[in-house]
Amino acid sequence: MILLNPGPVTLSPAVRQALLREDLCHREPEFAALTLRILRALEAVYGAAGYAAVLLTASGTGAVEAMLATFADPARATVVAANGVYGERMADMLRRQGKPHALVAGAWEQPVDVGAVAAALDAHPGAAAVAVVHHETTTGRLNDLAPLAGLCRERGVGLLVDTVSSFGGEAIDFAGWQPLAVAATANKCLHGVPGAAFVLARRERLAATNAWSPALYLDLERYHAAQRDGFSPFTQSVQACYALDAALDALQAEGGWAARRALYARRSAAVAAVLEARGVEPLLPAADSAAMLRAWRLPGGLAYGTLHAACKQAGFTIYAGQGRLAAGVFRIATMGEIPEPDLQRLTALLDGVFA
Ligand SMILES: *Cc1c(COP(=O)(O)O)cnc(C)c1O
Repeated sequence: MILLNPGPVTLSPAVRQALLREDLCHREPEFAALTLRILRALEAVYGAAGYAAVLLTASGTGAVEAMLATFADPARATVVAANGVYGERMADMLRRQGKPHALVAGAWEQPVDVGAVAAALDAHPGAAAVAVVHHETTTGRLNDLAPLAGLCRERGVGLLVDTVSSFGGEAIDFAGWQPLAVAATANKCLHGVPGAAFVLARRERLAATNAWSPALYLDLERYHAAQRDGFSPFTQSVQACYALDAALDALQAEGGWAARRALYARRSAAVAAVLEARGVEPLLPAADSAAMLRAWRLPGGLAYGTLHAACKQAGFTIYAGQGRLAAGVFRIATMGEIPEPDLQRLTALLDGVFA
């Protein structure tokens, strides 16, 4: 099966093979060495000077929740700039954590409204951070974070970013945006398996002992203190770490995030060419979309279930729209191991379905 959903991805033979490495206790020095290798490789993906990685056993949501648990101030508001499911979910996390926050809920098809975020910061004097999603997978929009990061710098507030579906496959400008932290996962653009997730945060901030996290498991300060030597406070998913290690090696060998982004863009353009030739309309223009995913409007008269079944029959798993876009939208992601002949089979299949 070729997975065209936004994570998990179809594994490469090397990553699949890594799952079969030797059994290993997470308290042994061999695992500590593995952890340190992964942390350094994660920090090297963008050469993010001044940032340290923290590795945890969770899905991407767990990493985002740990980022907010650890870095959202319990006494000063966090402004959440949302234009999709994942942005709105961050506000829900803050609500559950009992932390003061303001949700700037923008229209899902629109860019983040930086003016509205500025107004929310005005309305919440003392606000300490802005939280935003980089690639909002709901619509495929790659949010332009430079203006928002500029606003944060101007106001002296931290920027917390969900980069779950962009880390490793899009530009993340650590030096320019100066985010306080970004959260991501092993099994999207990095091509690992589900179970390992991580946060990159400013080193000095990770070394603090604020203990802001309402959940012990999500306290990244505690992980960071232990992981200086490669050990972790809790059991890690050893096999997911093996896979992530192999996946990071592959990313580096293949030319890093920029080469991966170019690969996704080539694949997405091939899919877009057949869909557009058959009159299928994109939800957003290609220029606004992440390379790894596009959302498309279902033509009238074609049920998503019918399209999904036709693709699955041929060995491809596509993805539905989400929330209020569930009825009229389908999504195609182009991450993971997709051999060229399979991509050609996919485009021929879509051409036939929409003919
Ligand atoms: C996939 C995704 C998540 C959630 O990741 P899980 O691994 O399913 O928990 C969070 N944010 C964004 C933007 C995503 O695309």
